[in-house]
This record gives sequence, structure tokens and C-alpha cells, in this order.
Amino acid sequence: MVALADGSSYQARRIILAAGVADELPGLPELAELWGKHVFHCPYCHGYELGKEGIGVLATSELAMHHGLMLPDWGATTLFVNDAFEPSADQLAQLKARGTHVEYGAAERLNERADGVELVMQDDRVFPLAGLFVAPRIHLSPLAAQLGCELEESPMGCIVKTDAMQATSIPGVFACGDVARAAGSVTFAVADGAMAGLSTHRTLMFGI
Ligand SMILES: Cc1cc2nc3c(=O)[nH]c(=O)nc-3n(C[C@H](O)[C@H](O)[C@H](O)COP(=O)(O)OP(=O)(O)OC[C@H]3O[C@@H](n4cnc5c(N)ncnc54)[C@H](O)[C@@H]3O)c2cc1C
Repeated sequence: MVALADGSSYQARRIILAAGVADELPGLPELAELWGKHVFHCPYCHGYELGKEGIGVLATSELAMHHGLMLPDWGATTLFVNDAFEPSADQLAQLKARGTHVEYGAAERLNERADGVELVMQDDRVFPLAGLFVAPRIHLSPLAAQLGCELEESPMGCIVKTDAMQATSIPGVFACGDVARAAGSVTFAVADGAMAGLSTHRTLMFGI
């Protein structure tokens, strides 16, 4: 049974979880205000539109290495370590091999500009950037846990574990989109949703 906030409720023989995730953006409050406008997490979604101008990566953990190594394919990239981790000699060599510039020191705030942002450091240095990438922590709504669905860890946080038919570990419960895929996209969410719908119908028809 699904209980809604207005007091009504629905009963169903199957349910598809498709509630997405909540992104937690640690650190600077401006990250949330500029999220999706000048601050991003997916190079494939937003790298190209930055037009090969200065791209920043603001580290919130060692996961920033991933962005720091990927983004040079879309433009000149600077990794702001932001006291979030200490790159090892091996990591610095990997970044250098990709042409990624590394800046140390803590970030103070972000200012929006007409064509991007400027990152202001605590020591007053200012870096104009076409866009800034950060890795959020993702949080699921409590629905999957309430149903007892098995979860799995991703580098960004927990997602619902599903099989190739988008079935969860609980019979009759399916999941699709960001709920069940780390670092998803609209196209993946649509495809997973189509499969979840098909699978749900299949189990209703054939009782499997
Ligand atoms: C900043 C940013 C930029 C992105 N840019 C791109 C891009 O350019 N291209 C691309 O392909 N992808 C992009 N993505 C990823 C893309 O947005 C997601 O992968 C996609 O939206 C996932 O779809 P979804 O349906 O799983 O979740 P969502 O789109 O999050 O939809 C879930 C819906 O469920 C609702 N909901 C949640 N809880 C409840 C509840 N308890 N009751 C009722 N409703 C509820 C939510 O309000 C929401 O409407 C971006 C993501 C972010 C964060």
C-alpha cells in the first residue's frame, strides 16, 4: 500500500520506484544556487557546452581525481584540491599526464559571472571559470528501505540493487532511473523506465 501525504492511499500488486535521488552538495552554499547552471557533475552532459574554456573541479573528496582526469578532453582543466584530500605522487603524475593543472588552498565562495563563475579562495586568489564540476553525495528517499529492497554502494552513495529486468530484491518491486543507477542520465532513466514497465507487465501477465 502507498500512503500519500494528503491522507489518501493506493493498493497495487506491483510498484516501480522512480523517485530519483537528492544531491548533497557539501561546502560552499553557492554550489546549490548554481547547480545545473554553472556547477555540474557530468562531463558527458555539460563538458562540450563549456566550449573548451577554463573548467574547474572542486574537490570534496578523492573522487575529484575522476573529474580531474576526465575533463581535459573538454577543455583546459584545473583541479582545486580544496584541502579535501592530499594527492599522492602517483596521482599528481596522472594529472600531469592529462594536462590537468592543480591548485592548492581552500575555496571561500563562488561568484556568478555572465559567462560562468569565479572561484574565490580563502587567500583571496580569484579564478574565472566557464564551469565548475563537483561530485555530490546522493541520497535515496526512504521508500526503498521501507520495502526492504537490497541496496548497493556506488562511489556517490547508495542506490537500489536491480537485475537486468529492473527487478529489485523484493518480489513485485521494480526500480528505475537515478534510484537504481549511479551517475545516470535522462536517456538511461527513460530506457530503464521502459524496461521496468515491461517487466512489471510481464510479471502480471505470466505471474512470475
Ligand atoms: C545538475 C544536473 C544536471 C544534469 N544534466 C543532465 C543533462 O544535461 N542530460 C542528461 O541526460 N542528464 C542530466 N542530468 C541527470 C538527469 O537529470 C537524471 O539522470 C534524470 O533526471 C533521472 O531521472 P529520474 O526520473 O530517475 O529522476 P528525477 O528526474 O529526479 O525524477 C524523480 C521525480 O520523483 C519525484 N519524487 C521524489 N520523491 C517523491 C515522493 N516521495 N513522492 C512523489 N514524487 C516524488 C521528484 O520530485 C521528481 O519529479 C543532470 C543531473 C543534474 C543533477
